[in-house]
Amino acid sequence: MSNNNSRIVDIRATTVTVPLQAPLRHSNGAHWGRFVRTVVEVETGDGLVGLGELGGGGASAEEAIRSLKPYLVGHDPARTEALRFMIANPTASLYNNRTQLLAALEFACLDLVGKRAGLPVHDLLGGKVRDEVEFASYLFFRYPGRDGAGEVRTPEQLVEHALELKRLNGFRVHKLKSGVFPTAYELECYRQLAAALPGDKLRFDPNGALGVEESIAFAAAIEDLDNDYLEDPTWGLNGMRRVRQNTRIPLATNTVVVNFEQLAANVLDPAVDVILLDTTFWGGIRPCIKAAGVCETFQLGIAVHSSGELGIQLATMLHLGAVLPNLNLAADAHYHHLADDVIVGGKLRYSGGKIAVPSGPGLGVELDRDKLAEYAELYRELGGYPYDRDPGRPDWYPLLPNTDFADPDAAGVPPALQAAYDSYPNARN
Ligand code: MG
Repeated sequence: MSNNNSRIVDIRATTVTVPLQAPLRHSNGAHWGRFVRTVVEVETGDGLVGLGELGGGGASAEEAIRSLKPYLVGHDPARTEALRFMIANPTASLYNNRTQLLAALEFACLDLVGKRAGLPVHDLLGGKVRDEVEFASYLFFRYPGRDGAGEVRTPEQLVEHALELKRLNGFRVHKLKSGVFPTAYELECYRQLAAALPGDKLRFDPNGALGVEESIAFAAAIEDLDNDYLEDPTWGLNGMRRVRQNTRIPLATNTVVVNFEQLAANVLDPAVDVILLDTTFWGGIRPCIKAAGVCETFQLGIAVHSSGELGIQLATMLHLGAVLPNLNLAADAHYHHLADDVIVGGKLRYSGGKIAVPSGPGLGVELDRDKLAEYAELYRELGGYPYDRDPGRPDWYPLLPNTDFADPDAAGVPPALQAAYDSYPNARN
């Protein structure tokens, strides 16, 4: 079907940094006020460009994408299954873990095929079963931004933040990213959230920071609330299985089942109830659909995971969510914490806690070249940031289980973060 003009002739990678409204804290450290992402463009002989996106960036990420050009030039983008074996053959992956690179290229190839056919990506993937995808409000403890605003540290600040997000976006499901403060303190925060959001659903995700017994005790302490699930309270399939044997709350994961081997292990000897599918970590939209099919067969739950997306990756999550019949849980997105986006028209909007599935050809989003240039320049100015370091405790790193949580009484901007703010006075949050 394809002629030579529809074959790949070039690939490009551009690192951007897009500001967040305030730094987001998690169990290992923080996002220091911005996301770093790599925008991938795949071009065919007739000048059509498909878009992909990758987490992180800088010279090494850009080089990793560019190094695959010899593999891709001359390839028909419609052959996405062949692409998997060309660049991420499982038996070669011991030496070259390219799953996330494959994902970015799969997005771009699907975008190209859709654009050429005049069809949205969801039509290439079985067709949509819904027009909108529901999202959870992703709640983080936050350091204040450059302007001094946006701190989320106390239960009162957390509740105010959640209500504001609900007012702006219509969220009916709320996920608290935890594992930052002592567990008893976070339990109080979570219970106050539940009290302030009657009728809404809740999720708690400490990124595996708790021990097994602490996780079981925490689950017992929230069992009376309207929990969608408890996400990765502890680490490892065996730890999660022990927790699951001792709670009635469904367990979810984006850490212990992130490939088909682990999915098989979890089917044979269940450790979790809900698999959070990530279009990047699983190697593309199509592997997520395959995994969702396995979950449908074994009646495991699914949801859509967020690893911190701009509009291109968000579009992949929307097309994925559109085609999964068994998606009855809200998706996660960091998206509402972004101050801006690199797509034409600016950030996609929420309505009633949902985002409409794009209906244009391909992924249905277009790159805003001015924004791309602006945020590529911001990356050159600011560089990367240590995602697994807490600016409030520069010499600290967590053990597993964590026994040294942050102090909930430590208010304001910590010195290391202030120093970062001061070094780039012209940068926005
Ligand atoms: Mg998680």
